[in-house]
Amino acid sequence: MADVARVLAVANQKGGVAKTTTVASLGAALVARGRSVLIVDLDPQACLTFSLGHDPDRLASSVHEVLIGDADVEDVLVDTADGMTLLPATIDLAGAEALLLMRPGREHALRRALTAVAERFDFIFIDCPPSLGVLTLNGLTAADAVMVPLQCETLAHRGVGQLLRTVEEVQSITNPALRMLGVLPTLYDARTTHSRDVLADVSDRYDMPVLAPPVPRTVRFAEASASGSTVLAGRKNKGAAAYRELAGNLLAHWEDGAELATLSAAEI
Ligand code: ADP
Ligand code: MG
Repeated sequence: MADVARVLAVANQKGGVAKTTTVASLGAALVARGRSVLIVDLDPQACLTFSLGHDPDRLASSVHEVLIGDADVEDVLVDTADGMTLLPATIDLAGAEALLLMRPGREHALRRALTAVAERFDFIFIDCPPSLGVLTLNGLTAADAVMVPLQCETLAHRGVGQLLRTVEEVQSITNPALRMLGVLPTLYDARTTHSRDVLADVSDRYDMPVLAPPVPRTVRFAEASASGSTVLAGRKNKGAAAYRELAGNLLAHWEDGAELATLSAAEI
């Protein structure tokens, strides 16, 4: 296993595409496979922090203080019921954007902070906010790879081009090593040809790999966050099963050098 954590950013400037769900579920699935996982909440709405049982209003400090240099990352980390370590967010993070803008090297603040703890974890997942501002630029600059969850609905592709341009700019300016893993179909309904058409269109149009397996739409995710139970709980949860399989595919790719499992055009 690598000496320092592999870092994956989960990004899409559209909200409601399952970025946060993907980070929490992949993280929990890798913990269940015996890996140590840090997840980073980069969204001022703090949904990841809240959904994992931490009330953002009660936290003394968060990733906000870390980014602006007022706290050490070690002092801000908290544990979650699923066995992950969380670098939490609070609403203060909304102000980080403006504070960071006045600083040189502002895109590198998260990367610098994570260096201090990267040796303690096998994997770090970054939950980016629904925008392409300085917080997402920090997430992409700190990452080895980026994954784009995509809800398979009409007009899902709008914004993908803009996101890809941002990724290209990060690759040429702040993080040449950043790799685009591909789009992850989320809230997927295999029964409708519509979901498949949207996916085929996006993969065609942007020449992007489509990661396997797609994550099916299931009411159990909403139930889990409402009940406060752990993210992958529930035996019949098809979504949880998909995230477990995706986690296995990522492990095979990252640790054993296997080709990353993707859907071919024929399989979509
Ligand atoms: P984002 O972080 O991109 O805004 P979230 O992960 O918060 O998206 O997901 C948006 C909403 O969709 C949440 O209410 C979440 O519970 C729900 N959701 C996510 N994945 C699924 C799924 N596979 N099936 C059903 N609901 C889901
Ligand atoms: Mg989110």
